[in-house]
Parts: sequence; C-alpha cells; structure tokens
Amino acid sequence: MDIIRREGFDFGFDPKACQGCPGYCCRGESGNVWVDQQEIIRICDFLNINSIDFIQKYLNRIGARLSIKERFTGHDYECVFFDSSKRRCSIYAVRPIQCRQFPFWDHFRRHKEQVIRECPGIRE
Ligand code: SF4
Repeated sequence: MDIIRREGFDFGFDPKACQGCPGYCCRGESGNVWVDQQEIIRICDFLNINSIDFIQKYLNRIGARLSIKERFTGHDYECVFFDSSKRRCSIYAVRPIQCRQFPFWDHFRRHKEQVIRECPGIRE
C-alpha cells in the first residue's frame, strides 16, 4: 500500500510499518481513547455484550465523555483491547474513529516530533 497523506499534515504514513510495530499507538503513556454512542453499539455487537455491562467493564467516564480503560503493564499503559500476545487490536474491525484516524490527529499537526517518536510508519 502507498504512503497515506492528509491535507494539512506535513507528514505521511506508511501502513506497512504496522507489521513490524509492537503497537506503539495502543500503548505507552496513559491517554484517552474516546468512544461515542454509535461506536459503543458497534463494539457491543462485535463482542456480543450489552451496553450496560460494556460501559461498566471497559469504559471510564471522564466529565461528559467515555474513554476506553487502560491496563498498567508494570512499565507503561495499554488499551484494554490491545492483545499484547498478538500485538494487535482485538476489536480492530470496529475500533473507534480516533484509532482509525491515527496518526492524523489535530494534535500532531503542531507536534510532529511526538508522532515521529511514537510511530515507525511516519514518512516525510
Ligand atoms: S481500541 Fe484497538 S486500535 Fe484503539 S487503542 Fe485500543 S487496541 Fe488500539
């Protein structure tokens, strides 16, 4: 697959790099992965779980929003849906839009050096 580019970003992304990556975009420093109602419904269907149990088990409420919980691994944090043995997302087909848009996040427009450190797929 070719390098992916998005208007307004002065870097590109090579999706082939994901094959050799241990999942840096799903683990590392603590952070939030936001989910909305539509995303919750999709993930619940995928996991065959009802939304009340799902929210209780997998989400944190932060203000008015909901974010996927993390696990502390002993030295960093990883998303609860990150399968560390397979080094991939266990809900990949229904992962939230925030995950689908990585590395083209608004924050990285002004902080390219951060995404370069985090993601081996970044290309000039
Ligand atoms: S939902 Fe999947 S893609 Fe998104 S951070 Fe969690 S493990 Fe990674």
